Amino acid sequence: MFFLDAHLDLSMNALEWNRDLTRPIHEIRERERGQTDKPDRGRGTVCLPELRRGDIGLVVATQIARYSKPSHPMPGWRSPVQAWAMTQGQLAWYRAMEDAGEMVQIRNRAGLEKHLELWAVPREVGRVAPRAPFDEIQLGARGAARPTSSRPIGYVLSLEGADSIVMLAHLERSCEQGLRAVGPAHYGPGTYAFGTDSEGSIGARGRELLKEMERLNLILDATHLCDQSFREAMDGFQGPVWASHSNCRALTPHNRQFTDEQIMELIHRNAVIGAPLDAWMMIPNWERGKTTPEATGLKLDKMVDHIDHICQLAGNARHCGIGTDLDGGFGREQCPMDVDTIADLERLPTLLKARGFSPDDVEGIAHGNFIRFLRSAWR
Ligand SMILES: [Zn+2]
Repeated sequence: MFFLDAHLDLSMNALEWNRDLTRPIHEIRERERGQTDKPDRGRGTVCLPELRRGDIGLVVATQIARYSKPSHPMPGWRSPVQAWAMTQGQLAWYRAMEDAGEMVQIRNRAGLEKHLELWAVPREVGRVAPRAPFDEIQLGARGAARPTSSRPIGYVLSLEGADSIVMLAHLERSCEQGLRAVGPAHYGPGTYAFGTDSEGSIGARGRELLKEMERLNLILDATHLCDQSFREAMDGFQGPVWASHSNCRALTPHNRQFTDEQIMELIHRNAVIGAPLDAWMMIPNWERGKTTPEATGLKLDKMVDHIDHICQLAGNARHCGIGTDLDGGFGREQCPMDVDTIADLERLPTLLKARGFSPDDVEGIAHGNFIRFLRSAWR
């Protein structure tokens, strides 16, 4: 089953975790043996070969750099300009992956269709069609079918937390570089919105940012917005909205997740919500660095609970997708115990079917809903 993962921090891992994501996962883990500077050292679950092995051929990949004022509770760059430079470095890594044929940037409808053809995804989303093994598929005029091991991973560039947008002109420049989605907030108070574990208004700068995003047809990523900023962003933005990696507060009570009311708002906006595999967001009372997957018995199947909750609110399965966040600063120590690498997503369709989801619904959740969203946003 082809997958679209709506949230990965690939370049952050490449540059700040110093991971060569073109290498096999066992090699990346091995090279981190003895390192203790990050909690997930030696336990990473994401690299390009594992994405290919799991048939995860399209991802939303971030640029991410926080600006921390002296009063900010989290670490970050000391100035917006430094944060901007960091995101430009991250872009340079994506460009290097493009040069190497490892990745390809998806920036418009034509690029999307061409990429889906390369990965042999049925053209009509929602249509149930058996997929022949890739090597047997003729790709028409473009010819040369490439083996699984060398197909480029498509990526839609997204900005997680907009602090690095020094002035609005930087947003237009980013858009020219291929940026297609922006989450104004991350953790704590940001320049343009308040994020997780904080509370406040988007203010004048947030409203200006949203207006400029509308003009540039950028997707608003509602993930990480605090409740007040979420409310104001929904009121102040008329363009396309998605939530790349968020779960349900009804199942995991924490401000990081969406209330049922917020989920309904997103559904009315035709949003698609990506389900993450970060353990503390999947079940209540997880203590980061203390709780273990084994102690809680957390398994991939828990993801289906959150997906199902959203489907029950919507009355259909058209608003759910995948946004694993599996490289978001954690590894096997903080994800379901039956997930060794991101390729284990391939077991999700079976779990969904066992819970009564139809083949069409499963396809929609795996990739079709986000693809439909992109087609509509870029029409
Ligand atoms: Zn995040």
